[in-house]
Amino acid sequence: MKTLESYLRDHKLLKHAIRVATVELGHTEKSVLEILRAYRMKPCTSAKFLGRVNYRTKTFYISAHEFQEGEQVEVILHELAHVYAGEFMHERGHGRAWKDMCELLGSEGTRTSEDAKWLEAALKFKHTRAPNHSWRRKGR
Ligand SMILES: [Zn+2]
Repeated sequence: MKTLESYLRDHKLLKHAIRVATVELGHTEKSVLEILRAYRMKPCTSAKFLGRVNYRTKTFYISAHEFQEGEQVEVILHELAHVYAGEFMHERGHGRAWKDMCELLGSEGTRTSEDAKWLEAALKFKHTRAPNHSWRRKGR
């Protein structure tokens, strides 16, 4: 399984992620890399969320479904803000620390899975783009 470090590198977001944690938050590069290497990236196929972080298992989930242009970066930064808020400030959820992290990372910080309208639109888009793609869970 890919580490969060290599996943961010693949998406050209690693330098940005390190810069925010070191320059803006004052952490050492070594400590940031330790965190990014501890997390594993796992694609998920749930129709309920586009991204999710599990702090206990240190798993970083990003939807395996097709994204609208630019939206995948937004989802990655949203989830990275959760990793930073959780690891650096011990805050979970969409609180003050997470919002601050979103601002530093350049995420809009508005698109959450609770934002039903956006999720609905995103899933509808996928459905339109790939009608045979079974993003819908059985029985739903
Ligand atoms: Zn969130």
